[in-house]
Amino acid sequence: MFFPVKIKAYVKERFGLPARKFLKLFLSNSVGLLFRIVNNLFLAKTLTVFVYHDVSDNPSECSRTYNLNVPLEVFNYQINFIRKNFNVISPADLLESRIPSKAALITFDDGFQSYFKNALPILEKHNVPSIIFLNMGHIRGTVFWPGLIIYLCEKRKDFREYVKNAIPVKDNKMKPLFLYCSRNLVDSYIERTGESFEGNVAEFVGEIATEEDLIGAAENPMVFYGNHLLNHDIPALMSDEELLKSYLQNADFLKRYLNYRDMFSFPFGQPGTCYNEPQVRLILESGAKKVFSSTGRINRNISSLCLDRIALTSFNESPAKIWFQVFRKSFRKRLGILSKEFNG
Ligand SMILES: [Zn+2]
Repeated sequence: MFFPVKIKAYVKERFGLPARKFLKLFLSNSVGLLFRIVNNLFLAKTLTVFVYHDVSDNPSECSRTYNLNVPLEVFNYQINFIRKNFNVISPADLLESRIPSKAALITFDDGFQSYFKNALPILEKHNVPSIIFLNMGHIRGTVFWPGLIIYLCEKRKDFREYVKNAIPVKDNKMKPLFLYCSRNLVDSYIERTGESFEGNVAEFVGEIATEEDLIGAAENPMVFYGNHLLNHDIPALMSDEELLKSYLQNADFLKRYLNYRDMFSFPFGQPGTCYNEPQVRLILESGAKKVFSSTGRINRNISSLCLDRIALTSFNESPAKIWFQVFRKSFRKRLGILSKEFNG
């Protein structure tokens, strides 16, 4: 950039810096300050809940394919970033409504063993509490249901055809195929093939936590357990009775651990396609103190019984990429509301 000689001399004399360097420093400080002001403005009186699944340097095929994994170094970076830019609360704080400005909560779903082996040491290093929403079915040895249906959809052409044929004609087929996999449908397919897929699914999914892992962390004051249904079925494909039974049976197993808190995250996390409003009411009426979805938005109503969560992935490994992920869906929603108002 060209600077007149007079300005160059003035900047050098006044600030002791070459003009070009001064401008660069001024701009980066201004942008940094502006960014801080904008963040403080948008995040004041909000609760940002993050959701993770797998933290591993050697993720399974399933975690890789569905972007469920964050490598250890990136996870360490993200947790440090969250700790510096938010006020991290514990699940106990949430239940007792101790929610400061710019609050954040760290959550995990599904019960991968990597939570206990890899994530927990990093969380402890940063003094960050977390809650992991567990399905006691596969912790206790039954096949990991989402792993099974995803495995079959990915690997078996005949299964894909079988599911497609079972989709009602009126359905617009906008959902991923595995979200049509009810228990009846999958069980009758497996019966027909006469094959057992358990070994393949275990390899496809990777290590799941054991009851020993749960016992080992149950008295850790930084660790809390929550409910994610007994077997991670798709709630939208369940009757009220089936949903309630799965929720209560899972709660019965989880109550054996002192760090269990009656909070619930919906398997698959997407309202509409994976679960519906009456099911949220049913879970809340059955004892859950908070219910979590995963559509990626910041919570502006911090005392709401239903809270949304944002997934951070291996892609979010710089401040800009984390902020982008944090604000992406919330801004989109805001713009959506604006355009609706202008239209109407
Ligand atoms: Zn899940």
